[in-house]
Amino acid sequence: MSAVAVRFAPSPTGRLHVGNARAALLNWLYARKHGGTFLLRLDDTDTGRSTAEFAAGIEADLRWLGLDWDRFAKQSDRFDLYRAATEKLKAAGRLYPCYETAEELELRRKIQLSQKKPPVYDRAALKLTDSDRAKLEAEGRKPHWRFRLQPGIVAWDDLIHGHTEIDMASLSDPVLVRSDGYPLYTLSSVVDDGEFAISHVIRGEDHVTNTAAQIQLFQALGYAAPTFGHFSWLLDAEGAGLSKRIGSLSLADLREQGYEPMALNSLLARLGSADPVEPHFTPAELVAGFDLGRFSRAPARLDPHELDLLNARILHVTPFAAVRDRLPTGATEAFWLAIRGNIGKLAEAAEWWPVVAGSISSVIEDALLVQAAIETLPPEPWDSMTWKAWSQAISAKTGAKGKVLFHPLRLALTGRDKGPEMAPLLPLIGRERVLARLQGI
Ligand code: GLU
Repeated sequence: MSAVAVRFAPSPTGRLHVGNARAALLNWLYARKHGGTFLLRLDDTDTGRSTAEFAAGIEADLRWLGLDWDRFAKQSDRFDLYRAATEKLKAAGRLYPCYETAEELELRRKIQLSQKKPPVYDRAALKLTDSDRAKLEAEGRKPHWRFRLQPGIVAWDDLIHGHTEIDMASLSDPVLVRSDGYPLYTLSSVVDDGEFAISHVIRGEDHVTNTAAQIQLFQALGYAAPTFGHFSWLLDAEGAGLSKRIGSLSLADLREQGYEPMALNSLLARLGSADPVEPHFTPAELVAGFDLGRFSRAPARLDPHELDLLNARILHVTPFAAVRDRLPTGATEAFWLAIRGNIGKLAEAAEWWPVVAGSISSVIEDALLVQAAIETLPPEPWDSMTWKAWSQAISAKTGAKGKVLFHPLRLALTGRDKGPEMAPLLPLIGRERVLARLQGI
């Protein structure tokens, strides 16, 4: 068995979205699980649409997810290789020049569809004579180049779809080189997968038909074809495609909205598989339970509510050291431990910090109860038992119990009617602040 080598190959023509994150994570997990290497390859041959900012954004997004890469490549550095492959294919008679414009091709496609024929390229360009070509070029037309597929069935054992067969008669010969000379994805991807000795190509099922053509291209270029795995579509909870809503959200949006990267990773690593979604704290922890063989062909559903719940579950047990840098200045471990069980997003910590260390508007709902609270307020030092003793003393003095007792106290001390448990919060607020709030100062 050759070494496992996988890649994640985004185009830097935009920021990564949730669907890309899934491809990145599944490949990363596959590499780590099998002791292989993970290549980050930027598919930037479209120099008009690719930008350095988007490339930097992709790297930042992967780092935010906690995914590292062992190798890095940019296709724009590798045009020589694609050119050499082009020459090789031409010499082998597998690449042929075509002169149709986009409009002509579209018209032909419409006619084929109206005749209920599959919209497959009719290979008209193969019938052109040298003088036809010379005439077209004299008109100023520049050829684009198509890869001549061989007829028959292309089959492979897909890691997720199982045995897959594609009848090549159902495919158009793919364009490998544009009329301006730039290579297209099908060519550059196969050359790089070959040159980097990629052993497993794991990507979305929108690439299944590409795979059949690419297998022939690997063969034509003298590379061993990798093993393929195509994971299913990601749908939102209602079953609609993920073009809208959460799936189309960029990772930058999710980060902005305060999601923890591990909430997303924990979800994406298991969605579409037979394994349960559980909170995990590092990508490495997801490796042991990861098994691509347990992924199914059925579409995976991404429920934003599930992401919210995971986010909260993760925060509820996150240690102080892991969030210290993202908490308000001065926030202590005791503060974090007091509030973490009650927040859904880390940003909520900033709302609780003034409760223990700043000023809030206290709300006096029951003046008599609050008066009793002032009279029974114990001296410091305070600890986690103080709240119980004090509230019992207030209860004994006023007869108030349950909500009637706790609600006005919480409102007076925190300004809010809900929140973290008062027992750990009280010593953090401290006697001086507590007294001032009870006095409505
Ligand atoms: N750049 C391609 C894409 O984003 C890569 C597809 C592949 O994994 O081969 O669709």
